[in-house]
Amino acid sequence: MSNALVTEKKLSNFINGEWVASNHERFAPVINPANGEKLLDVPLSTKDDVDQAVEAAKVAQKEWALVPAPQRAEVLFRIGYIMKERKEHLSQLLTMENGKVIEEARGEVQEGIDMAFYMAGEGRRLFGHTTPAELKDKFAMSQRAPVGVVGIITPWNFPIAIATWKSFPAIVAGNAVIWKPATETPMMAYEMAKIFEEAGLPKGVVNVVFGAGSEVGDAMVEHPDIRVISFTGSNDTGRQIAGKCGQLLKKVSLEMGGKNAVIVMEDADLELAVQGILWSAFGTSGQRCTACSRVIVHESLKERLEERLLAEMEKITIGDGLDENNKMGPIINEAGLRKIEKYIQIGKTEGARLLAGGYALDEGDFSKGHYFAPTLFTDVTADMRIAVEEIFGPVLSIIPVKSLDEAIAVNNDVSFGLSSSIFTQDINNVFKAQRDLDTGIVYVNAGTTGAEIHLPFGGTKGTGNGHRDSGQAALDVFTEWKAVYVDFSGKLQRAQIDVE
Ligand code: NAP
Repeated sequence: MSNALVTEKKLSNFINGEWVASNHERFAPVINPANGEKLLDVPLSTKDDVDQAVEAAKVAQKEWALVPAPQRAEVLFRIGYIMKERKEHLSQLLTMENGKVIEEARGEVQEGIDMAFYMAGEGRRLFGHTTPAELKDKFAMSQRAPVGVVGIITPWNFPIAIATWKSFPAIVAGNAVIWKPATETPMMAYEMAKIFEEAGLPKGVVNVVFGAGSEVGDAMVEHPDIRVISFTGSNDTGRQIAGKCGQLLKKVSLEMGGKNAVIVMEDADLELAVQGILWSAFGTSGQRCTACSRVIVHESLKERLEERLLAEMEKITIGDGLDENNKMGPIINEAGLRKIEKYIQIGKTEGARLLAGGYALDEGDFSKGHYFAPTLFTDVTADMRIAVEEIFGPVLSIIPVKSLDEAIAVNNDVSFGLSSSIFTQDINNVFKAQRDLDTGIVYVNAGTTGAEIHLPFGGTKGTGNGHRDSGQAALDVFTEWKAVYVDFSGKLQRAQIDVE
């Protein structure tokens, strides 16, 4: 029985290296979206718990910042090795709490392992610049300094990978972390806290406080001693957080929604495009920020592409992600399912033609979980709501166009700017598209998903606020630039004035 993997039936917060019961004995059930089974209870902590965690983090951070970065990195290496040993265990738990199929769960855990080793390498880099000073006998350099106590708020759809994109750069740079995972998916945070402890991360460097965003998340945003908020989630929440952080002059990094498109040009390898579209549209049941929800296809290929997609969509096996045969798992919860259904109605009312799916699966075993059939709309126009709003489910819209210029214009004509993709064999199309597609990530001859951790991850326009997760760019969120001038002339030298 897979539930045997869940050893803890009631979670506690992880504060100052101890498992601490929330100050208020309130809990929410965590439900396996594949079958409706209760996995465990997660505490609904309050502001008091956040305050307690921040006090611990403040003390720990002062010491941690003085540990040489290569030694801080040693801990990350150990974290990476423990995650590697436990990859299968973590992957199965991830599938149980989130629903994504086991193959994808393994991929997500691998992303965390990759991030651990990559950021551990930063312990011997964390490069600044040395530069000539304008005055004689003077030395100038810039270096990265930790910010202090940082807050990370993560969503349910990538409960381990996103947390590693944020916490590992924060740790290697000498910060202490308060982490609030999504209430739907707390098991990855519990498992990671155990790994931090075993890897020898000093007490208080990472603290996990479980609870609702409106309470724990908000208390973190408002806390005067949390100097950075790094958030991934929906635009509504991100906007609220940004407003508060703006008032408090708090650094905030936001990674939010997407409305990602695959462009298929007339010279594309059609079979390759079909595979890329299927993987990015229906993987994780469309519940990825980088999920493909629009196919912008040259009109000459439209019918052939539709036929091939329909034929392949029929083959998608749906069900509990722990069964290796299933290629698409459930939707996270009832609210997610209802939101998708709402958009099906909107699409129909707008005049889009439904070619497949469009309904929740609720017969037999499906009735225990939340499942939705892979769905294809065609004859969608660029201005329809289903073509511009994030649905977050397995719903794909086909938008025909006449040229590359039109395809790029349609791609860019949404408020989001996370990921885009083009299938073409023409080198001129490739270079024009990678220059003109207004997204933070561009794929050529691959779908819209598949980020590697050593490159920056994030989007333009409404997807974010200019910061990036992962890659070296993540260090910018969790460090302050410090400029250092050392004058060894033994006399007062005034910049800009005493220049000979
Ligand atoms: P969400 O509802 O905004 O929740 C995200 C996190 O914020 C959760 O931990 C949530 O806590 C917390 N939260 C909610 N209200 C808050 C508040 N007032 N103050 C502080 N924290 C608060 O988003 P979601 O539905 O979980 O995630 C799906 C969204 O994430 C999609 O829009 C998707 O595109 C986006 N996403 C973006 C990226 C990216 O890198 N661009 C990656 C993955 C996902 P509780 O849920 O526990 O209450």
